Amino acid sequence: MKQTHQLIQKWYKDHGRVDLPWRTTNDPYHIYLSEVMLQQTQVKTVLERYYFPFLKKFPTLKKLGNAPLDDVLKMWEGLGYYNRAKNLHKTAGAVNELPSDIDALIKLPGIGKNTAHAVATFAFKKPVPIMEANVKRILCRLNKLKTPTDKTLWEIAYNLVDKENPFEYNQAMMDLGAILCTPKDPRCKVCPLCDICQGKDEPTLYPRKKKHVVSTREQNIMISVYNDKLSLTQRSGKFLHGLWGFPSLDVPLCASEYIGDVSHAYTHFKLKCKVYVYNAPNKKEEHYFTIAQIQKLAISKVDDKIVKLYLDTIQTY
Ligand code: SF4
Repeated sequence: MKQTHQLIQKWYKDHGRVDLPWRTTNDPYHIYLSEVMLQQTQVKTVLERYYFPFLKKFPTLKKLGNAPLDDVLKMWEGLGYYNRAKNLHKTAGAVNELPSDIDALIKLPGIGKNTAHAVATFAFKKPVPIMEANVKRILCRLNKLKTPTDKTLWEIAYNLVDKENPFEYNQAMMDLGAILCTPKDPRCKVCPLCDICQGKDEPTLYPRKKKHVVSTREQNIMISVYNDKLSLTQRSGKFLHGLWGFPSLDVPLCASEYIGDVSHAYTHFKLKCKVYVYNAPNKKEEHYFTIAQIQKLAISKVDDKIVKLYLDTIQTY
């Protein structure tokens, strides 16, 4: 095992993404933020568009906890999976500093088993493994596992972790999965784990791919216009909770005009919106905003596309 750990260390030193900003800091908040942002988003996107502006706006856990949720959602705009931002905000409001203990971390809002392990090992150098998608794939291939349970994978991960250098080991495992042990085209010949890998002859058999069925949801979206301002409401349901958006109606209003379709792909479904515009005869209790004001609100990607469709439409008149 020692030799394998040495090979992993060497590979990481030569080929790993050692300069990523969350790998060169000891600040648990910065590391925790990166872990949450990276849960559903690629490194490039987080690095180029979100990580630094977020930290500039909320440089400490305390400042994040004291900020209004709307400001946090605005900085998260476009990253999607907004529950991540809400839980981050809740955690920041609940503790002055992050604990190093895995059980204490798991009790905080939105921190699951893997994030707790990642914060514990990356921020506090605890000798524990992590279990994100890249690591899971490597463990399955090392052990020829097609459909392993989480329990099995965690047991294997705990046996394999380098307890002397857990930080570098875990970062290396993520990079190995992202760079060498890729889903479709693993490069086993140059992999430091080749000698101990049981699945290297047919690596793409492991793990077995799940069939992914994506359904389509359809909505009628109503843009109510009064005095060149548009009506938006803050969503209170589970979907996109807390973000501002246009309401959907079962049946479009008679006096409304259809202006086009907008669609957006989420992980589990595709949303298809038929967009209608309605000139409100008077201002009701809804919130009406100018386009400039809307640009300052936290809105989802699909609502952003709806605004663009509306602007294109009025410009062609
Ligand atoms: S030897 Fe191949 S299948 Fe095994 S861990 Fe390395 S890249 Fe993945």
